[in-house]
Amino acid sequence: SVRWGLIGASTIARQFMIDAIRAQVDGEIVAVMSSSQERAAAYAGENGIPVAVSTLDALLNADIDAVYISTTNELHLEQALAAIKAGKHVLCEKPLALSSADARKMVDAAKAAGVVLGTNHHLRNAGSHRAMREAIASGRIGKPVAARVFHSVYLPENLQGWRITRPEAGGGVVLDITVHDADTLRFVLGDDPVEISAFTQSAGMANGGLEDGAMCIWRFKSGVIAQSHEGFTTKFAGTGFEVHGSEGSLFASNVMTQKPVGSVLLRTAKGEEELSFDREDLYTRSLRQFHAAIHGDGQPSATGEDGVWSLASAEAALQSAKSGKAVAIDPKL
Ligand code: NDP
Repeated sequence: SVRWGLIGASTIARQFMIDAIRAQVDGEIVAVMSSSQERAAAYAGENGIPVAVSTLDALLNADIDAVYISTTNELHLEQALAAIKAGKHVLCEKPLALSSADARKMVDAAKAAGVVLGTNHHLRNAGSHRAMREAIASGRIGKPVAARVFHSVYLPENLQGWRITRPEAGGGVVLDITVHDADTLRFVLGDDPVEISAFTQSAGMANGGLEDGAMCIWRFKSGVIAQSHEGFTTKFAGTGFEVHGSEGSLFASNVMTQKPVGSVLLRTAKGEEELSFDREDLYTRSLRQFHAAIHGDGQPSATGEDGVWSLASAEAALQSAKSGKAVAIDPKL
Protein backbone atom coordinates (compact mmCIF):
# COMPACT_ATOMS: atom_id res chain seq x y z
CA SER A 1 0.00 0.00 0.00
CA VAL A 2 0.98 3.65 -0.35
CA ARG A 3 0.88 5.41 3.01
CA TRP A 4 0.24 9.14 2.73
CA GLY A 5 0.92 12.11 4.98
CA LEU A 6 -0.99 15.32 4.33
CA ILE A 7 0.97 18.55 4.69
CA GLY A 8 -1.68 21.22 5.17
CA ALA A 9 -5.17 21.02 6.69
CA SER A 10 -6.64 22.52 3.54
CA THR A 11 -9.97 22.84 1.78
CA ILE A 12 -8.78 21.07 -1.37
CA ALA A 13 -7.66 18.03 0.62
CA ARG A 14 -10.97 17.92 2.49
CA GLN A 15 -13.08 18.40 -0.62
CA PHE A 16 -11.23 16.20 -3.12
CA MET A 17 -7.86 14.69 -2.27
CA ILE A 18 -8.67 12.65 0.82
CA ASP A 19 -11.41 10.86 -1.12
CA ALA A 20 -9.15 10.48 -4.16
CA ILE A 21 -6.42 8.79 -2.08
CA ARG A 22 -8.95 6.50 -0.42
CA ALA A 23 -10.45 5.63 -3.81
CA GLN A 24 -7.19 3.86 -4.72
CA VAL A 25 -6.99 0.13 -4.03
CA ASP A 26 -3.77 0.74 -2.10
CA GLY A 27 -4.14 4.30 -0.76
CA GLU A 28 -4.07 5.01 2.95
CA ILE A 29 -3.89 8.33 4.86
CA VAL A 30 -1.79 7.99 7.96
CA ALA A 31 -1.21 11.51 9.22
CA VAL A 32 -2.04 15.17 8.74
CA MET A 33 0.09 18.19 9.59
CA SER A 34 -1.24 21.66 10.36
CA SER A 35 0.77 24.58 11.76
CA SER A 36 -1.69 24.45 14.66
CA GLN A 37 -1.94 21.25 16.75
CA GLU A 38 -5.54 22.11 17.57
CA ARG A 39 -6.52 22.44 13.90
CA ALA A 40 -4.57 19.28 13.04
CA ALA A 41 -6.47 17.33 15.68
CA ALA A 42 -9.85 18.71 14.62
CA TYR A 43 -9.10 18.01 10.94
CA ALA A 44 -7.87 14.49 11.71
CA GLY A 45 -11.00 13.82 13.74
CA GLU A 46 -13.36 15.10 11.04
CA ASN A 47 -11.61 13.14 8.30
CA GLY A 48 -10.80 9.90 10.12
CA ILE A 49 -7.02 10.38 9.95
CA PRO A 50 -5.18 8.48 12.73
CA VAL A 51 -2.29 10.85 13.46
CA ALA A 52 -2.34 14.67 13.85
CA VAL A 53 0.91 16.62 14.10
CA SER A 54 2.02 20.24 13.99
CA THR A 55 5.61 19.99 12.76
CA LEU A 56 7.11 18.84 9.51
CA ASP A 57 9.63 16.63 11.35
CA ALA A 58 6.87 14.79 13.15
CA LEU A 59 5.02 14.21 9.89
CA LEU A 60 8.11 13.00 8.05
CA ASN A 61 8.95 10.68 10.95
CA ALA A 62 5.56 9.00 10.69
CA ASP A 63 5.46 5.71 8.79
CA ILE A 64 4.63 7.19 5.37
CA ASP A 65 5.73 6.71 1.75
CA ALA A 66 4.39 9.90 0.19
CA VAL A 67 3.22 13.38 1.06
CA TYR A 68 0.54 15.57 -0.48
CA ILE A 69 1.36 19.27 -0.02
CA SER A 70 -1.58 21.69 -0.06
CA THR A 71 -0.47 24.50 2.18
CA THR A 72 -0.36 28.11 0.98
CA ASN A 73 2.04 28.60 -1.90
CA GLU A 74 5.02 30.17 -0.10
CA LEU A 75 5.42 27.02 2.01
CA HIS A 76 5.55 24.42 -0.77
CA LEU A 77 9.28 24.73 -1.53
CA GLU A 78 10.65 24.17 1.95
CA GLN A 79 8.14 21.41 2.71
CA ALA A 80 8.80 19.60 -0.55
CA LEU A 81 12.57 19.77 -0.17
CA ALA A 82 12.34 18.39 3.38
CA ALA A 83 10.04 15.55 2.29
CA ILE A 84 12.31 14.69 -0.64
CA LYS A 85 15.30 14.69 1.69
CA ALA A 86 13.42 12.24 3.92
CA GLY A 87 12.95 9.96 0.88
CA LYS A 88 9.22 10.57 0.43
CA HIS A 89 7.42 10.84 -2.88
CA VAL A 90 5.80 14.26 -3.27
CA LEU A 91 2.55 15.28 -4.89
CA CYS A 92 2.55 19.06 -4.60
CA GLU A 93 -0.14 21.61 -5.31
CA LYS A 94 0.31 24.29 -7.92
CA PRO A 95 2.10 26.62 -8.11
CA LEU A 96 5.01 24.42 -7.04
CA ALA A 97 6.73 27.45 -5.54
CA LEU A 98 6.78 31.24 -5.88
CA SER A 99 9.38 31.21 -8.67
CA SER A 100 10.30 28.80 -11.43
CA ALA A 101 13.90 28.82 -10.14
CA ASP A 102 12.65 27.43 -6.82
CA ALA A 103 10.43 24.91 -8.60
CA ARG A 104 13.48 23.67 -10.53
CA LYS A 105 15.22 23.06 -7.20
CA MET A 106 12.38 20.71 -6.29
CA VAL A 107 12.66 18.87 -9.61
CA ASP A 108 16.43 18.52 -9.25
CA ALA A 109 16.19 17.34 -5.64
CA ALA A 110 13.55 14.71 -6.48
CA LYS A 111 15.63 13.44 -9.38
CA ALA A 112 18.74 13.18 -7.22
CA ALA A 113 16.82 11.38 -4.46
CA GLY A 114 15.05 9.02 -6.87
CA VAL A 115 11.57 9.91 -5.62
CA VAL A 116 8.49 10.79 -7.67
CA LEU A 117 7.47 14.46 -7.84
CA GLY A 118 4.10 15.40 -9.30
CA THR A 119 2.20 18.68 -9.72
CA ASN A 120 -1.50 18.55 -8.99
CA HIS A 121 -2.69 20.04 -12.29
CA HIS A 122 -6.03 18.24 -12.18
CA LEU A 123 -7.33 19.42 -15.56
CA ARG A 124 -5.04 17.04 -17.48
CA ASN A 125 -7.09 14.28 -15.94
CA ALA A 126 -10.40 15.56 -17.28
CA GLY A 127 -11.94 13.32 -19.96
CA SER A 128 -12.91 16.50 -21.84
CA HIS A 129 -9.33 17.74 -22.14
CA ARG A 130 -8.03 14.29 -23.00
CA ALA A 131 -10.65 13.97 -25.74
CA MET A 132 -9.56 17.33 -27.18
CA ARG A 133 -5.89 16.38 -27.03
CA GLU A 134 -6.64 13.12 -28.85
CA ALA A 135 -8.78 14.80 -31.49
CA ILE A 136 -5.99 17.29 -32.22
CA ALA A 137 -3.21 14.68 -32.20
CA SER A 138 -5.16 12.49 -34.63
CA GLY A 139 -5.59 15.40 -37.05
CA ARG A 140 -9.32 15.93 -36.68
CA ILE A 141 -9.02 19.75 -36.81
CA GLY A 142 -6.15 19.76 -39.29
CA LYS A 143 -3.34 22.11 -38.35
CA PRO A 144 -4.10 23.95 -35.07
CA VAL A 145 -4.08 27.71 -35.54
CA ALA A 146 -5.46 29.33 -32.39
CA ALA A 147 -6.89 28.59 -28.96
CA ARG A 148 -9.12 30.50 -26.53
CA VAL A 149 -9.44 29.71 -22.84
CA PHE A 150 -12.30 31.08 -20.72
CA HIS A 151 -11.41 30.54 -17.08
CA SER A 152 -12.77 33.51 -15.20
CA VAL A 153 -14.84 32.37 -12.25
CA TYR A 154 -16.17 33.67 -8.95
CA LEU A 155 -13.93 32.81 -6.01
CA PRO A 156 -16.25 31.16 -3.47
CA GLU A 157 -16.68 33.08 -0.22
CA ASN A 158 -15.02 30.36 1.88
CA LEU A 159 -11.86 30.77 -0.25
CA GLN A 160 -11.77 34.59 -0.11
CA GLY A 161 -8.72 34.53 2.20
CA TRP A 162 -5.00 34.46 1.42
CA ARG A 163 -5.60 34.32 -2.35
CA ILE A 164 -6.89 37.92 -2.33
CA THR A 165 -5.06 39.40 0.66
CA ARG A 166 -1.56 37.95 0.96
CA PRO A 167 0.99 38.61 -1.81
CA GLU A 168 3.69 36.99 0.36
CA ALA A 169 1.68 33.72 0.36
CA GLY A 170 1.58 33.68 -3.44
CA GLY A 171 -1.92 35.10 -3.75
CA GLY A 172 -3.41 36.51 -6.96
CA VAL A 173 -5.28 35.00 -9.86
CA VAL A 174 -2.19 34.44 -12.04
CA LEU A 175 -0.49 32.04 -9.61
CA ASP A 176 -3.88 30.50 -8.88
CA ILE A 177 -5.51 30.03 -12.28
CA THR A 178 -3.15 31.12 -15.08
CA VAL A 179 -0.85 28.23 -14.06
CA HIS A 180 -3.70 25.80 -14.78
CA ASP A 181 -4.38 27.42 -18.16
CA ALA A 182 -0.69 27.20 -19.05
CA ASP A 183 -0.65 23.51 -18.22
CA THR A 184 -3.93 22.71 -19.94
CA LEU A 185 -2.92 24.57 -23.12
CA ARG A 186 0.38 22.65 -23.20
CA PHE A 187 -1.42 19.37 -22.63
CA VAL A 188 -4.28 19.83 -25.11
CA LEU A 189 -2.13 21.35 -27.87
CA GLY A 190 0.87 19.08 -27.26
CA ASP A 191 2.96 22.22 -27.69
CA ASP A 192 4.98 24.56 -25.49
CA PRO A 193 4.47 28.31 -25.07
CA VAL A 194 7.37 30.60 -25.97
CA GLU A 195 6.04 34.08 -25.29
CA ILE A 196 3.27 35.83 -23.37
CA SER A 197 1.75 39.26 -23.08
CA ALA A 198 -0.64 40.01 -20.21
CA PHE A 199 -2.87 42.66 -18.70
CA THR A 200 -4.00 42.23 -15.12
CA GLN A 201 -6.58 44.12 -13.06
CA SER A 202 -7.79 44.55 -9.50
CA ALA A 203 -11.51 44.51 -10.09
CA GLY A 204 -12.57 45.02 -6.50
CA MET A 205 -12.07 41.71 -4.69
CA ALA A 206 -8.31 41.44 -4.19
CA ASN A 207 -6.27 43.93 -2.20
CA GLY A 208 -2.66 44.38 -1.17
CA GLY A 209 -1.78 45.08 -4.80
CA LEU A 210 -2.89 41.61 -5.89
CA GLU A 211 -4.62 41.00 -9.21
CA ASP A 212 -8.02 39.33 -9.40
CA GLY A 213 -8.33 39.32 -13.18
CA ALA A 214 -5.95 38.64 -16.07
CA MET A 215 -6.02 38.41 -19.84
CA CYS A 216 -3.08 36.79 -21.58
CA ILE A 217 -1.97 36.37 -25.18
CA TRP A 218 0.29 33.39 -25.82
CA ARG A 219 2.52 32.28 -28.68
CA PHE A 220 3.42 28.60 -28.99
CA LYS A 221 6.42 26.93 -30.58
CA SER A 222 4.39 25.68 -33.56
CA GLY A 223 3.12 29.20 -34.26
CA VAL A 224 -0.29 28.69 -32.61
CA ILE A 225 -1.51 31.79 -30.79
CA ALA A 226 -3.85 31.64 -27.81
CA GLN A 227 -5.74 33.90 -25.49
CA SER A 228 -6.75 33.17 -21.91
CA HIS A 229 -8.90 34.95 -19.34
CA GLU A 230 -8.56 34.22 -15.64
CA GLY A 231 -10.60 35.91 -12.92
CA PHE A 232 -12.05 35.71 -9.41
CA THR A 233 -14.87 38.24 -9.74
CA THR A 234 -17.17 37.14 -12.59
CA LYS A 235 -20.17 35.29 -11.21
CA PHE A 236 -21.89 34.46 -14.47
CA ALA A 237 -19.15 34.06 -17.09
CA GLY A 238 -19.03 30.25 -17.39
CA THR A 239 -15.88 28.48 -18.59
CA GLY A 240 -14.70 27.08 -21.89
CA PHE A 241 -11.79 26.01 -24.05
CA GLU A 242 -11.67 26.29 -27.84
CA VAL A 243 -9.08 25.17 -30.37
CA HIS A 244 -9.41 26.25 -33.99
CA GLY A 245 -7.59 24.49 -36.81
CA SER A 246 -7.37 24.51 -40.60
CA GLU A 247 -9.95 21.71 -40.94
CA GLY A 248 -12.10 22.07 -37.84
CA SER A 249 -12.79 23.65 -34.48
CA LEU A 250 -13.26 22.22 -31.00
CA PHE A 251 -15.63 23.96 -28.59
CA ALA A 252 -15.54 22.75 -25.00
CA SER A 253 -17.93 24.25 -22.52
CA ASN A 254 -17.95 24.13 -18.69
CA VAL A 255 -14.64 22.23 -18.62
CA MET A 256 -12.34 24.50 -16.58
CA THR A 257 -13.59 23.00 -13.36
CA GLN A 258 -12.83 20.46 -10.66
CA LYS A 259 -15.72 18.20 -11.68
CA PRO A 260 -15.90 15.68 -14.56
CA VAL A 261 -18.57 17.67 -16.38
CA GLY A 262 -19.01 19.76 -19.53
CA SER A 263 -19.19 19.05 -23.24
CA VAL A 264 -16.90 19.02 -26.29
CA LEU A 265 -18.19 19.77 -29.78
CA LEU A 266 -16.21 19.17 -33.00
CA ARG A 267 -17.24 21.27 -36.01
CA THR A 268 -15.85 20.45 -39.48
CA ALA A 269 -16.99 20.55 -43.11
CA LYS A 270 -18.92 17.34 -42.33
CA GLY A 271 -21.00 19.04 -39.66
CA GLU A 272 -21.06 18.90 -35.88
CA GLU A 273 -20.23 16.01 -33.60
CA GLU A 274 -20.48 15.87 -29.81
CA LEU A 275 -17.36 14.03 -28.56
CA SER A 276 -18.01 11.47 -25.83
CA PHE A 277 -15.50 11.23 -23.02
CA ASP A 278 -14.68 9.54 -19.75
CA ARG A 279 -16.35 11.01 -16.64
CA GLU A 280 -14.00 9.70 -13.98
CA ASP A 281 -13.22 12.02 -11.07
CA LEU A 282 -10.18 14.12 -12.04
CA TYR A 283 -8.35 13.81 -8.73
CA THR A 284 -8.92 10.06 -8.48
CA ARG A 285 -7.30 9.61 -11.86
CA SER A 286 -4.42 11.89 -10.87
CA LEU A 287 -3.81 9.77 -7.76
CA ARG A 288 -3.95 6.53 -9.76
CA GLN A 289 -1.27 7.79 -12.13
CA PHE A 290 0.81 8.94 -9.17
CA HIS A 291 0.57 5.55 -7.46
CA ALA A 292 1.52 3.84 -10.72
CA ALA A 293 4.55 6.14 -11.01
CA ILE A 294 5.61 5.18 -7.47
CA HIS A 295 5.38 1.54 -8.55
CA GLY A 296 7.66 2.31 -11.51
CA ASP A 297 4.89 2.41 -14.10
CA GLY A 298 4.97 5.69 -16.05
CA GLN A 299 4.84 9.26 -14.80
CA PRO A 300 2.42 11.34 -12.74
CA SER A 301 -0.18 12.93 -15.03
CA ALA A 302 1.60 16.26 -14.46
CA THR A 303 5.27 15.95 -13.52
CA GLY A 304 7.50 18.35 -11.60
CA GLU A 305 8.79 19.60 -14.96
CA ASP A 306 5.21 20.37 -16.01
CA GLY A 307 4.90 22.38 -12.79
CA VAL A 308 8.04 24.33 -13.70
CA TRP A 309 6.55 25.08 -17.13
CA SER A 310 3.26 26.38 -15.72
CA LEU A 311 5.03 28.50 -13.12
CA ALA A 312 7.53 29.91 -15.63
CA SER A 313 4.50 30.88 -17.76
CA ALA A 314 2.71 32.57 -14.85
CA GLU A 315 5.90 34.33 -13.87
CA ALA A 316 6.30 35.67 -17.40
CA ALA A 317 2.65 36.80 -17.39
CA LEU A 318 3.18 38.78 -14.19
CA GLN A 319 6.36 40.29 -15.56
CA SER A 320 4.57 41.26 -18.75
CA ALA A 321 1.70 42.87 -16.86
CA LYS A 322 4.20 44.91 -14.87
CA SER A 323 6.43 45.96 -17.75
CA GLY A 324 3.85 46.39 -20.48
CA LYS A 325 5.97 44.22 -22.77
CA ALA A 326 5.73 40.69 -24.15
CA VAL A 327 7.97 38.31 -22.19
CA ALA A 328 9.68 35.10 -23.30
CA ILE A 329 8.72 31.92 -21.44
CA ASP A 330 11.75 29.84 -20.54
CA PRO A 331 11.46 27.03 -17.96
CA LYS A 332 15.25 26.46 -18.18
CA LEU A 333 14.78 22.70 -18.02
P1 NDP B 1 -6.94 26.68 2.24
O1 NDP B 1 -6.99 28.13 2.52
O2 NDP B 1 -8.15 25.87 2.50
O3 NDP B 1 -5.75 26.01 3.06
C1 NDP B 1 -4.44 26.52 3.01
C2 NDP B 1 -3.88 26.63 4.42
O4 NDP B 1 -4.63 27.59 5.14
C3 NDP B 1 -4.01 25.34 5.21
O5 NDP B 1 -2.86 24.56 5.02
C4 NDP B 1 -4.19 25.82 6.64
O6 NDP B 1 -2.96 25.87 7.34
C5 NDP B 1 -4.70 27.22 6.50
N1 NDP B 1 -6.09 27.25 6.96
C6 NDP B 1 -7.15 26.61 6.40
N2 NDP B 1 -8.26 26.85 7.11
C7 NDP B 1 -7.90 27.63 8.14
C8 NDP B 1 -8.57 28.22 9.24
N3 NDP B 1 -9.89 28.03 9.42
N4 NDP B 1 -7.87 28.98 10.09
C9 NDP B 1 -6.55 29.17 9.90
N5 NDP B 1 -5.85 28.63 8.90
C10 NDP B 1 -6.51 27.89 8.04
O7 NDP B 1 -6.40 26.55 0.76
P2 NDP B 1 -6.87 25.70 -0.50
O8 NDP B 1 -7.24 24.32 -0.15
O9 NDP B 1 -7.85 26.48 -1.24
O10 NDP B 1 -5.48 25.70 -1.32
C11 NDP B 1 -4.34 25.04 -0.85
C12 NDP B 1 -3.35 24.80 -1.97
O11 NDP B 1 -3.96 23.98 -2.95
C13 NDP B 1 -2.85 26.02 -2.69
O12 NDP B 1 -1.53 25.80 -3.10
C14 NDP B 1 -3.74 26.10 -3.92
O13 NDP B 1 -3.12 26.76 -5.00
C15 NDP B 1 -3.96 24.63 -4.20
N6 NDP B 1 -5.26 24.32 -4.84
C16 NDP B 1 -5.28 23.51 -5.93
C17 NDP B 1 -6.44 23.12 -6.52
C18 NDP B 1 -6.42 22.17 -7.67
O14 NDP B 1 -7.48 21.81 -8.13
N7 NDP B 1 -5.29 21.71 -8.13
C19 NDP B 1 -7.73 23.63 -6.03
C20 NDP B 1 -7.63 24.44 -4.84
C21 NDP B 1 -6.42 24.75 -4.28
P3 NDP B 1 -2.48 24.66 8.27
O15 NDP B 1 -2.25 23.52 7.35
O16 NDP B 1 -1.26 25.17 8.91
O17 NDP B 1 -3.62 24.38 9.22
